[in-house]
Amino acid sequence: MFEWPKKKLGFGLMRLPLTDPEDQGSIDLEQMKKMVDIFMSKGFTYFDTAWMYCAFKSEEAVKPALTDRYPRESFTLTTKLNSHFFNSREDMENVFNTQLKKTGAGYFDFYFLHAVDGESIAKYEEFKCFDWMLEKKAAGLVRHIGFSYHDKADVLDKILTDHPEVELVQLQLNYLDWESEWVQARKNYEVCVKHEKPVVVMEGVRGGMLAKLPAEAEALLKAAEPEMSLASWAVRFAASQPNVMVVLSGMSNIAQMEDNTSYMEKFQPLTDDEIAKVMKVADIINSKTAIACTGCHYCTDGCPQNIEIPWYFSLYNAVSLQDGRVSPSDIRNYEGIAQKFGRPSDCVECGQCEGICPQHLPIIETLKKVTKTFENGPHR
Ligand code: SF4
Ligand code: SF4
Repeated sequence: MFEWPKKKLGFGLMRLPLTDPEDQGSIDLEQMKKMVDIFMSKGFTYFDTAWMYCAFKSEEAVKPALTDRYPRESFTLTTKLNSHFFNSREDMENVFNTQLKKTGAGYFDFYFLHAVDGESIAKYEEFKCFDWMLEKKAAGLVRHIGFSYHDKADVLDKILTDHPEVELVQLQLNYLDWESEWVQARKNYEVCVKHEKPVVVMEGVRGGMLAKLPAEAEALLKAAEPEMSLASWAVRFAASQPNVMVVLSGMSNIAQMEDNTSYMEKFQPLTDDEIAKVMKVADIINSKTAIACTGCHYCTDGCPQNIEIPWYFSLYNAVSLQDGRVSPSDIRNYEGIAQKFGRPSDCVECGQCEGICPQHLPIIETLKKVTKTFENGPHR
């Protein structure tokens, strides 16, 4: 066992501030440094990055923003090995050594296999990745090992039974996915409790979706706590689960950092009545949301047609929330994306995106619906 961070909020380095919103790799380092300073000054210590975050630039930003500026023992850093980026033991070593070099961390407090599911586990097993992580641990380059996970609870149960050496699990957990039969957040959480593995929460605010709610849902939460942000309900819901060690929030600007740290500095779990309210909000959202995209951007780097998939899905969801009405401004936003990136109709159905999407979304079919929705001009 190991010591948990003193505070339950983690800085997810996946949606960092950008100098150019159209370039996921254009990290605004000065703003990031200020965010790190706010975070550290309030006693938070947990940072989470990965090989491909921010178009492969997130780990690189860790060095100037964090490791060069704070004593190594004053924070904990997690990074990950992703099955899409190695095909040999040598590749794995190259990734790991590059991660050490990019971050300047010297060692990783936590090292995870990334986006484990019923399919990717076969590759992780084939390359004996769990043993490889144990070797890194024995060499002092990694302190604790785990994996991030996106699949059903029975598969998780089997993996944790096969690998008792795993020390913690990163799960997609939020009030919207809590009872979802697809994500199985509650069931996965319960499997972790059964195996006595602490949980790191990812997608606590569901890629920002739970920070911007349908009017009816927003009214419900604002009536209960007018001063609290909508995002705070989501982060506090996740942090209220006793076996949750830390809730990651992919903060993108100083305002989000100020907001999250304000209520997580002296965290109070939600009451039963408050939990009932967020479950009601989940019902409202589920009745209106077209596609469960979290905006992680894993799908975009390898798209041969340079299609900004999550941005189109975000527009599509926004239109669903307004009962399918497409306004002139929706069309302007759509054309704005289409002028700089591929159109949904440019999709050649290569399947790359669906192979990497951790939410297992039917991207190709949904892009066809996006085309139909936005390429016919404004309509009701
Ligand atoms: S299936 Fe379409 S959207 Fe997906 S990667 Fe291929 S071209 Fe891009
Ligand atoms: S479609 Fe999937 S991979 Fe792409 S941004 Fe959305 S959730 Fe992430």
